[in-house]
Amino acid sequence: MNNSLKTLSLISILSILLGNSPLLNANGLLVKTYPDGARDDETAYLFKNSTSLVSFIVYAKEKPFELKKGELTLTIPSGLKIVNFGVYRDKYPEDMINCNLLNSEENIWTLSLGDRIVETVYQIYGKYPLVPWSTFVIYAYLRPSGKALPATKFDMAWRLSGNGIKPFEGKMKISLVSAPEGEKMPKDFFAWSAYGNDGNVADRESFDDFLKLAKNCGINGIINSGPGLPSYYSLSELNKKGFSVIKYNLLKHCLIRPPDILAEAGFPIKDNDRAISFTGHNPSSRKDNLGGEGGIYCPSKFLLPDSPVMEYMVQEYLRFYNEGCHIFFSDYEDRSYARCYCQLCRKKFSEEAGLDYTFIMKLKPEELIEKYTRQWHLFRTRQNASMLKTLRDKLKPVCKDIFLGINEARCDYKDISIPGSGRGFSYFPEDPVILDASVDFHDADILASGVGSMQQLELWFTKNQRGQFYINKPVIARVSSFVSVNWGYWCVLGRMEKGKFSREYSGMGCDWRPLNQKLEIANAAAIGAKGIEVDFTPSSTDALVINAIHSGMDYIGEFEEMLDKKYRQNWETIKVYDLTSEKSPRKEIMEKGFMSRRFLANINKYGTLQYTYHRKDDKHLISIFNWDYYQTKQVKILLPEFSGKDNFYIHLYNDGQRHLLIQENGKKEWNAVELADGLFLEIYRGSLTAILFAEKIFPGYKEMKSEKKLNITPLDTPLKLYSWRGEENYSGELFKEVVYKTMLENMKKHILEKRNNE
Ligand SMILES: [Zn+2]
Repeated sequence: MNNSLKTLSLISILSILLGNSPLLNANGLLVKTYPDGARDDETAYLFKNSTSLVSFIVYAKEKPFELKKGELTLTIPSGLKIVNFGVYRDKYPEDMINCNLLNSEENIWTLSLGDRIVETVYQIYGKYPLVPWSTFVIYAYLRPSGKALPATKFDMAWRLSGNGIKPFEGKMKISLVSAPEGEKMPKDFFAWSAYGNDGNVADRESFDDFLKLAKNCGINGIINSGPGLPSYYSLSELNKKGFSVIKYNLLKHCLIRPPDILAEAGFPIKDNDRAISFTGHNPSSRKDNLGGEGGIYCPSKFLLPDSPVMEYMVQEYLRFYNEGCHIFFSDYEDRSYARCYCQLCRKKFSEEAGLDYTFIMKLKPEELIEKYTRQWHLFRTRQNASMLKTLRDKLKPVCKDIFLGINEARCDYKDISIPGSGRGFSYFPEDPVILDASVDFHDADILASGVGSMQQLELWFTKNQRGQFYINKPVIARVSSFVSVNWGYWCVLGRMEKGKFSREYSGMGCDWRPLNQKLEIANAAAIGAKGIEVDFTPSSTDALVINAIHSGMDYIGEFEEMLDKKYRQNWETIKVYDLTSEKSPRKEIMEKGFMSRRFLANINKYGTLQYTYHRKDDKHLISIFNWDYYQTKQVKILLPEFSGKDNFYIHLYNDGQRHLLIQENGKKEWNAVELADGLFLEIYRGSLTAILFAEKIFPGYKEMKSEKKLNITPLDTPLKLYSWRGEENYSGELFKEVVYKTMLENMKKHILEKRNNE
């Protein structure tokens, strides 16, 4: 039975039970389109030389109804053709696409949708600016037809119709751009993206095009999550094409499986494997423990040698490993105070914290965590580290190249530092310093967007008082400009809609997304990330974002050998002056919009110019990121002394353009004396500029005369970057304020809800 029939019969049964007929009295459709719907300027940016995806998200206006003999017609230039289409999770046969010649320049394409239920009613959730996920999304794939395109900008007319409904029509404003070519992509840098919601719909050629594009942008890992990859593509085939397949959230998935599923799989659990909740019962499902906050199993029990939960987990990892997934990470987000209050947990805790067991046994859960807030959080963190270590130790002998990581969130509080853990503290019991020995990599959850995300990322790269890094394993930065999930149409459209009514949101401010992507990727690598997690997915991105990802990756490819945390120097070794005298118009322009408001707040806090300084042997690399999207900056750099080397070359890299800077008299070499007054540069709005000083000329750099000079006056002060300085002061109070209170409030809310339902 296909999905639509299943849904139809379910709705019919429901209508009989309810005694009414929700399929009658159809009031019509509401259609939202993508990727134009993701932009404030309402333009869909597609590729002129590669496959692009356009989506039509269909809702019922008032109540569910049946659409008979549905049709979507699209009028597009003859330079493009429609190669494939489908409705979320259902690929439609090719003979359901017809094309009629309209004139010599345009064709009308008709996609036959058959009979469908329009069951999702459009609404905006009150609290969150989100619209509901629709079960009716039409994906249409466009590819160049081989005929000349009349223009790169045009309107695509579309019309959705069917028996018994009023047709819904619109125009999609389209702008075509070129798909990126290879250039110099990094060799040993992880770049991962999920595949989108159209996995079951994409045809082989479209998916191959996606892979080619991904490869050209340096993407080398596909995250297998959600509806996932096309079924005709085996994981080994992807491996052969040079892509790793990353299994996402398996750990979390295993730990929320109910006891009967584990028993069925051959791992029966005993009663005492179960957790004892905050309110004192054995939860039968995850939901049953504080609405999902608590989990089902006791974390102390599954560290015992014979734990069936651990054995089940090992089996599941082995299964996916043998299928071709060798990289695993989870967004686990365990809760410190919700999980389990059994005797064993209390015993283990009293041993670890050096407390009297009989006293700990007597305390109510709320008294226990109120009294030992930080110790309990640490106790759970160490247990999570032990869990990951046990799992990894069991897997490593049989899965030699397994790469096991976890996603971690750290709170970016400026002056907070925890002895032995460095700056910032972990919201969930997943402190990367404590977990470091148990994992192969860290996936840094950075959600601030733009320069705020970059400051948050710095937390993974702090050093202790002896100058050593707290964390030794590679860090993968989640640089999807607000995280991939937030770019699903339901979030973007919801924020757009909300913006029409509320000043707080007033528009999305999405048009900055490409610049954000480029800078976040490049800046993250400059900070020290060894990889990125990015949203490259066709159903939630567009051609401009993909080009921006390519641009960020090009910088990493160019300077890869130097972009390592061990070569990064203290930023105060060089002095960077912002000599721009005019006021930036960014505040007035970016004032409105959900995203831009958050972005601006971070700019105000951290400044628009960020830079890093790397040194490897005789090479010096200064990278400057201009997070002001509306103003070119006049910058002067006072340079470090170059250890006795007199003849060096200055390479300027600006958003992919490569120039060798020569002196006014035509001399190519420079010496320290000639640079005594500093180096003047213009850093274009939203761009990244890297200056490489080397003894040899790098290939591909075209000669360019040195630009004008600006003098530094005594009134000018060099940039002071926000950095995670300060004493190693641990503040128990702030930890309690941020982590403990939030988690406790969530728990109280769940307990109250449960009581109200009883
Ligand atoms: Zn327990």
